[in-house]
Amino acid sequence: MFDINKIRSDFPILNRTVNNKPLVYFDNGATGQKPKQVIDALVNYYSNQNSNIHRGVHTLSREITIAYEEARQTIASHINAKQVSEIVFTKGTTESINLVTYCFGKIELNEGDEILITEMEHHSNIIPWQIVCEEKKAVLKYIPINEAGELILEKLPQLITSKTKLVAFTHISNTLGTINPVKEMIVQIRSLCKAAVLIDGAQAVPHLKPDVQDLDCDFYVFSGHKLFGPTGVGILYAKQHWLEKFPPYQTGGGTIKTVTLEKTEFADPPLKFEAGTPHIEGGIGLAAAISYVNAIGFEAIQKHENTLLDYATKKLLEIEDIRIYGTSKHKTSVLSFNVGNIHPFDVGSILDKYGVAIRSGHHCTQPICKFYNIPGTIRASFAFYNTVEEIDVFIAALKKAIRLLS
Ligand code: PMP
Repeated sequence: MFDINKIRSDFPILNRTVNNKPLVYFDNGATGQKPKQVIDALVNYYSNQNSNIHRGVHTLSREITIAYEEARQTIASHINAKQVSEIVFTKGTTESINLVTYCFGKIELNEGDEILITEMEHHSNIIPWQIVCEEKKAVLKYIPINEAGELILEKLPQLITSKTKLVAFTHISNTLGTINPVKEMIVQIRSLCKAAVLIDGAQAVPHLKPDVQDLDCDFYVFSGHKLFGPTGVGILYAKQHWLEKFPPYQTGGGTIKTVTLEKTEFADPPLKFEAGTPHIEGGIGLAAAISYVNAIGFEAIQKHENTLLDYATKKLLEIEDIRIYGTSKHKTSVLSFNVGNIHPFDVGSILDKYGVAIRSGHHCTQPICKFYNIPGTIRASFAFYNTVEEIDVFIAALKKAIRLLS
């Protein structure tokens, strides 16, 4: 059963006040809060388990190596990877994408080749492709968006050519909330060309459980911190054959089989891509977060979040001069909006006085802002621990902010 009071009691931060008001945390698109099950895993790590992994024969090292590799297995099972070796620990979504652009660029891209991304990508899924395309004299193309903030997929057949080497797109837009039809897109892409497919799952994993085999994507990337796990840890899922073909991204301890003064023989994936001491407690904390959300269940999470989204959308639209950006029927619990000509930062600062944490700005998606010709938006993004009562507090504070700023 979905017991909101029990769930909220798992998140210590939800008990705090901000400016003498109970915290209303609606900035889940930026990062998720952590349940005590995750915090306890981190405390337990430093209190009882701290040691380095993979190379020690002593008990602590052996124990933590097992725990870290079990965490990798938990993550592999969660996204239904075929093999645990397809899971590479990284710093986060950004590093996972940089790893793919670097390695893919090095072995697959030649002059005149094409990479296709979309106009709704986070900067993390734009800039690395711009750089690698410039280096390789490849062409970067974009799938456009429409007024509702959806991809114009009718353009796919025109945009894809025999030179398209990779298509990368977000599963869910962090600014618009749009849930892209990723499975259908992959089927269509596969019918048109042999390109590899990368999905940016940063905003999807807090709301749904991706199945990478069912999707048949080549790469799926996400960050631990948005999935209620620690910061500084993320995942690159890649089909095994890519990891075998890819050169190492960074090199150093942990990536090797043997080193002589003349040459190095690299370890098998995923270790080949995990140079240096990793974020050990991050991996363990992320596995704890995954176990936590699975115990609640994504069906229940989605049902609750849809209730929040519908209620907040209705309440927002009752306010004069509100414009919501991202009105797709298929969207998650993200509301990006503006009120008349009021600057998003001014609204954000006043809401903070009432204890309400939202985000204002371009959300690292400047091309989306350019599309709508706006400096940014006010973004309220909900997680499963948020409530309808919190939305009432937010709407009341927003009305006061509008009165003050109009
Ligand atoms: N992609 C999307 C869609 C995101 O929302 C974010 C974070 N806002 C990122 C990539 C980058 O994630 P991180 O900063 O954790 O690397």
